[in-house]
Amino acid sequence: MENKCLSCGVSENIIPLIQPAFDGGQKFICPQCLPSLIHAPRKIADKLPVLKDVKPATHKYE
Ligand SMILES: [Zn+2]
Repeated sequence: MENKCLSCGVSENIIPLIQPAFDGGQKFICPQCLPSLIHAPRKIADKLPVLKDVKPATHKYE
């Protein structure tokens, strides 16, 4: 079976996908969409509803 990015739908045959530890390993995300998962999880909550209550990660550089 061909795996696809949960956010944009790109195929694993086009770009290597990353597999988050979630939902028994049934979900995949591409490197281009990974920043959204980190910084804007609500933006992709329509594709993965569990993200609707996840706060964006913040960074501390100092
Ligand atoms: Zn993607």
